[in-house]
Amino acid sequence: MLEREIVVVGAGPAGLSAAIEAAGAGARVLCIDLNMRPGGQLFKQIHKFFGSSAHRSGTRGIDIGRMMLDEAEDKGVELWLGSTVIGLFPGNKVGVRHGQDGTAGAFVTVHAQKIIVAAGASENVVRFDGWTTPGVMGAGAAQTMVNVNHVKPGRRVVMLGSGNVGLIVSYQLMQAGCEVAALVEAAPKIGGYAVHAAKIARAGVPIYTSHTIKRVVPDESGRVCRVVIVGLDDAFQEIPGTEREIEADTVAIGAGLKPTTELLALLKCDFTFHPVWGRVPLHNRDMETSQEGVYIAGDTTGVEEANTALEEGRIAGISAAAALGYLSEDEAKARKDEIWARLAALRMGPFGEKREQAKQDILSAFDESRGGLAAV
Ligand SMILES: Cc1cc2nc3c(=O)[nH]c(=O)nc-3n(C[C@H](O)[C@H](O)[C@H](O)COP(=O)(O)OP(=O)(O)OC[C@H]3O[C@@H](n4cnc5c(N)ncnc54)[C@H](O)[C@@H]3O)c2cc1C
Repeated sequence: MLEREIVVVGAGPAGLSAAIEAAGAGARVLCIDLNMRPGGQLFKQIHKFFGSSAHRSGTRGIDIGRMMLDEAEDKGVELWLGSTVIGLFPGNKVGVRHGQDGTAGAFVTVHAQKIIVAAGASENVVRFDGWTTPGVMGAGAAQTMVNVNHVKPGRRVVMLGSGNVGLIVSYQLMQAGCEVAALVEAAPKIGGYAVHAAKIARAGVPIYTSHTIKRVVPDESGRVCRVVIVGLDDAFQEIPGTEREIEADTVAIGAGLKPTTELLALLKCDFTFHPVWGRVPLHNRDMETSQEGVYIAGDTTGVEEANTALEEGRIAGISAAAALGYLSEDEAKARKDEIWARLAALRMGPFGEKREQAKQDILSAFDESRGGLAAV
């Protein structure tokens, strides 16, 4: 069995920053990602990031990813790409299918003194009549096709969901040469930032709020060829007679993300329930879960954005390195306090305050669970 001091699962902003901090403090770190390119979601983000200048706003996500990768390499982080962590087992054993670069990949077990899980999030689905028809996909999948693989998912796209992902991906699909036939949103108003919505509206995309997709109609080859949308009342019930048909060969669903937590469930970590994110793992202010020596960071802890993922990753990396003796308790605490202050600043404003509250609730639930309450 291979031995490593720290294994980080996921090389997105959270995993890379955790690896950079821990390796910078002197720990031997292995960071594993199933993609052939590290950077997680950042490598799909060709737009300039929003946020504060301290967090590289105005820089394209893809460039932030490259900078972090260079830093990780400088600090001596060992990277296994095209490798999937398929299980975490008692005794801090990490099961990895190593190197899937077109080959079957060998199964390897790595014993880690500390594990940091930064596995990101996966897309929510919305079920309607015909939701498994070829041509229906997640907005993130459509984004990967255009920005990473340079393939158009279709000719005319209906986007379901007007959060920032739905808005940004709609715009990027248009930049790639697709036509966005409609943006459909169940809520009475747009969910994402007005600045992104305005760009879509200026480009002439019809926006249907208080609407949803009722069904998709396939052509003779079985692919999407028409999308039927329907109006919704205040109780989100369909209003009969408001159906409208839109010609489209692709439906992209941008209906939110949920934390990727299966590996933590395997380890029997304690979870709590959040109304939007679903089951989320409990953690303390060191980002350590209910399993000693197992830390989490980023979207896995509850979906936010790259900057908060980055900061949480830093805390997890510092905590793991300090637990191995690479940083004194005082030094680790001082650095983590600074990062918690930056996180609080990032979580201000109408969107941020809700996330701040949710994250505080998770911390409180962790504390209560130590007293035998709240964990599910
Ligand atoms: C369309 C869109 C626009 C966005 N725009 C912004 C923006 O402007 N500003 C901003 O701050 N944020 C933005 N974000 C959000 C941001 O990209 C994410 O919040 C951030 O990437 C989360 O980081 P993470 O490291 O937690 O997860 P991810 O970036 O998702 O990284 C997780 C990594 O873990 C890997 N992984 C998962 N499971 C395994 C496994 N079992 N084995 C090996 N590897 C595994 C994945 O391959 C992935 O690389 C945007 C997101 C989207 C989708």
